[in-house]
Amino acid sequence: RPVIGVLALQGGVAEHLAALERGGAVPRPVRRPEELAGVHGLVLPGGESTTMTRLLDGFELFEPVRRRLAAGMPAYGSCAGMVLLGSRVLDDHRGRGGADSATPAVGVRPLAALDVVVRRNAFGRQADSFEADLDVEGIDGGPVHAVFIRAPLVEKVGSDVQVLATVEPVGQGPAEPGGREPHRPDPDGAPAEASVGTIVAVRQGPVLATAFHPELVGGDERVHRQFVQMVRAC
Ligand code: GLN
Repeated sequence: RPVIGVLALQGGVAEHLAALERGGAVPRPVRRPEELAGVHGLVLPGGESTTMTRLLDGFELFEPVRRRLAAGMPAYGSCAGMVLLGSRVLDDHRGRGGADSATPAVGVRPLAALDVVVRRNAFGRQADSFEADLDVEGIDGGPVHAVFIRAPLVEKVGSDVQVLATVEPVGQGPAEPGGREPHRPDPDGAPAEASVGTIVAVRQGPVLATAFHPELVGGDERVHRQFVQMVRAC
């Protein structure tokens, strides 16, 4: 059983520890560089990517985690964890700019383990939280029940990134007064890249990320089991 750490600074730590245990790993909370040194892989949980950026700095973990990732440590990020694993992070719609802005997210320093552009809080206010059953590439046995909570979206992927799951563009109805249009592909015959606005799970080599929270769904550890396999294969 591989030893898999969960970054335990903030967010859904206990749920990931439990899901990893059920998924066949020896789970360990990671708060210190010494604890990081002892794990074969790392989960970055959901929470707030701005808060986690601050705590990664405060606990002097940012550089150690970044270095381990650069050296090929397997990692799995859910939600805010996905945001942190990205290479570029764009601001949410509540910030300046809106759905299509290229404003970098304030207060998030990404670890750049995935060649993706991620937008924080990418679903409109009406779709802040929702659930969906999704087919996830590489996960057998039927759709995964996906819980989205102020979730990010992957807007662009590099050529080495595998897209594992997408959701339908959301909020095709009228925009909320004073709100923003939910993000959706450009209708004017935009290139293939336009559909990229719906990517919610990706993998690049030993790094996996989901915009949703499989750790919140009891009794289905398939995503964690998949990550445990990835760690074993490393
Ligand atoms: N909106 C949060 C962020 O961008 C993520 C929410 C979550 O992890 N459930 O940091």
